[in-house]
Amino acid sequence: MAKPRHIGVYPGTFDPITRGHLDIIERGLKLFDVLIVAVAESLSKAPLFEVDERLEMIGHEIKKYGNVRVESFDSLLMDYMRKKKATTVLRGLRVISDFEYEFQMALTNRKLDPGIETVFMMTAENYAPISSRFIKEIARLGGNLSAFVTPNVAKKLKEKYGLE
Ligand code: ADP
Repeated sequence: MAKPRHIGVYPGTFDPITRGHLDIIERGLKLFDVLIVAVAESLSKAPLFEVDERLEMIGHEIKKYGNVRVESFDSLLMDYMRKKKATTVLRGLRVISDFEYEFQMALTNRKLDPGIETVFMMTAENYAPISSRFIKEIARLGGNLSAFVTPNVAKKLKEKYGLE
């Protein structure tokens, strides 16, 4: 009998995808047969980019990997996991302050579905200070984005803020 495929899901807002997110994807893809980057609409966060724009930016970055794909989802994460037959949620940790929120979310998800595990990966320390929120502020003020995002994402940010 064929060995079951181990599917991981890396959910987030990715508004926009940063070098920190990409670091977690690169680390995570070694753990799973397939890694799905799952883009949440996150309307409560009033995202700068539409879901389709975020999907396109992520798609551009991950096309070099054979076992990573990107999708959007608008249901409860645990329902989406079951639909995808995914076993594990992947999340990234930057700093201690991430921990409390992530811990709460992982425990809540475990209550919703005890069969699904959450794993955390730590980013490379040079990516730890990167957050989509600060990147948008730097972009808005015309700062250099190359340490934080890829050239394609930097271009999209500049276009959004009418700087290109
Ligand atoms: P969410 O709205 O779900 O928090 P984000 O796009 O902000 O979505 O983050 C998605 C995941 O990526 C979270 O687990 C977050 O901790 C992680 N993450 C964000 N930035 C970084 C980074 N610089 N390095 C490592 N992980 C990160």
